[in-house]
Amino acid sequence: MPVIRSARVPLDRASVIVPAGRVYVIPQRCKECRFCIDFCPKDVLVTSTETNAKGYRYPVVAPGKEEACVHCEFCSLVCPEYAIFTVEGPRAEVPA
Ligand code: SF4
Ligand code: SF4
Repeated sequence: MPVIRSARVPLDRASVIVPAGRVYVIPQRCKECRFCIDFCPKDVLVTSTETNAKGYRYPVVAPGKEEACVHCEFCSLVCPEYAIFTVEGPRAEVPA
């Protein structure tokens, strides 16, 4: 998904705290619809190389994206099988 950047910088940028999330997947519930992967705004997720007992490849955090989740919870919202959720982790500062 392309990232759209604004040329303007919000005046309160330094005071904004971006939430950080930790992703948890329940592989046996997944049916590989890819909704969570396709709609994650931070491209955190990719398809696993492993399969669950039903033969579906479930989502995993992409290499190098371990700190990218912003705990928007959209993945858990769109998952029809309640197979993925996030919990809020340590907060991160807005990158310069
Ligand atoms: S909570 Fe948001 S940013 Fe984190 S993995 Fe889910 S959709 Fe992506
Ligand atoms: S949205 Fe749910 S069922 Fe679909 S791929 Fe993601 S975890 Fe699996």
